[in-house]
Amino acid sequence: MASAFDEESFAQLLDAVDRFVRHRLMPLEKQVEEAGEVPSDVIDEMKKMGLFGLGIPQEFGGYELTLFQEVQVQMAFSYTSPAFRLVFWPNVGIGSKGIVLAGTPAQKEKYLPGLASGELRASFCLTEPDAGSDAASLRTTAVRDGDDWVINGSKRFITNASRAHVFTVMARTDSSKRGAAGISAIIVERGTPGLSVGKPENKMGQKGSPICDVVFEDVRVPVSNIIGGLDAEGNGFRMAMQVLDAGRISVAASGLGMARRLIDEAARYALQRKQFGQPIAKFQLIQAMLADSETEYLAGHALVMQAAAALEAGQEATAQAASAKYFCSESVSRIADRALQIFGGAGYIAEYPVERLYRDARALRIYEGTSQVLQLVIARAMLKRYE
Ligand SMILES: Cc1cc2nc3c(=O)[nH]c(=O)nc-3n(C[C@H](O)[C@H](O)[C@H](O)COP(=O)(O)OP(=O)(O)OC[C@H]3O[C@@H](n4cnc5c(N)ncnc54)[C@H](O)[C@@H]3O)c2cc1C
Repeated sequence: MASAFDEESFAQLLDAVDRFVRHRLMPLEKQVEEAGEVPSDVIDEMKKMGLFGLGIPQEFGGYELTLFQEVQVQMAFSYTSPAFRLVFWPNVGIGSKGIVLAGTPAQKEKYLPGLASGELRASFCLTEPDAGSDAASLRTTAVRDGDDWVINGSKRFITNASRAHVFTVMARTDSSKRGAAGISAIIVERGTPGLSVGKPENKMGQKGSPICDVVFEDVRVPVSNIIGGLDAEGNGFRMAMQVLDAGRISVAASGLGMARRLIDEAARYALQRKQFGQPIAKFQLIQAMLADSETEYLAGHALVMQAAAALEAGQEATAQAASAKYFCSESVSRIADRALQIFGGAGYIAEYPVERLYRDARALRIYEGTSQVLQLVIARAMLKRYE
């Protein structure tokens, strides 16, 4: 697969990521969980490693990894708390991909170097209080006034909003059109008058990765801030869905990284914990749980690699991406549940990482398409083949 980043350099990067995750980040997991934030010196190290620019073209300072390579980094990083990768992943994924895929030369020049270095941080604003799964019913409007768009509306649960400098906002630029038509993707910079970001929500898991409301009250931006320029007016929803294909494969890969960690924790614990005079790993009912988890991990791995290869090859991969995300996000919850069971009472207390991983894993079945929405996407695509 063509990559601007050769295989040998990629192997070195993956090795560096692996060492960073295991030696630098894993010892900080409890601290990040309790403090609710990633220390700034860790973020500086992430910048130095070039992590913010993994998917951004080399001409703008990124590594220009293929999606196939990106998912491998995602898996390696997801071995530790999601808070760490969610510092830079919005720059790699949904926060920058729209500009990489469809931005004008001027937009690329203006934003991609800062996004690649981590000097700028990104957020992707699609969900609204009354438009979640039915995202195409969004109500945020952008009304043209001379050379400006005037944006009004509010967005909900936006990852990284409290630390973002660049917001990709999905807004209705043509109110005469319903649904997906008439929606455009507009870049709004932090500090623009009328833009405000709410307090980070108190979440069940993934602590240290803020999600917030973002409110737009008569926010004015130049008409040229539509991603792809004025000619791309009304293409925003299509672009968002394109970005989400890669995003869903990436979420699936994050589920695999978490699954690997959970299986490793559970297997090691089963080998050292003794009951009835022997390690619990000797009991076939424990082995069955480990075997089910390992099988689901391997099946998910195959799905993710297949979907990434299809998208990379330019094939229509919406249903494959949805299947990968659906399977991996559901299976990591089952894997977390089995891991907790293998730990017994110890699995239910915060001293061991499975309690935290169990909570962290739960979100994967909700964001970037709930499991039910993904089932609909998969069924719609497969039924077409039978019609
Ligand atoms: C940690 C986290 C981070 C997030 N980050 C972002 C972000 O950065 N940017 C962003 O834009 N959004 C983000 N979101 C929002 C997320 O994408 C939405 O929560 C998700 O799309 C679901 O929307 P909703 O919460 O409104 O649920 P709803 O759409 O209200 O769904 C409620 C339930 O109804 C089900 N349902 C809905 N429609 C159907 C149907 N047709 N058939 C069957 N069942 C259905 C759903 O599956 C779900 O079980 C984030 C959410 C979380 C939890």
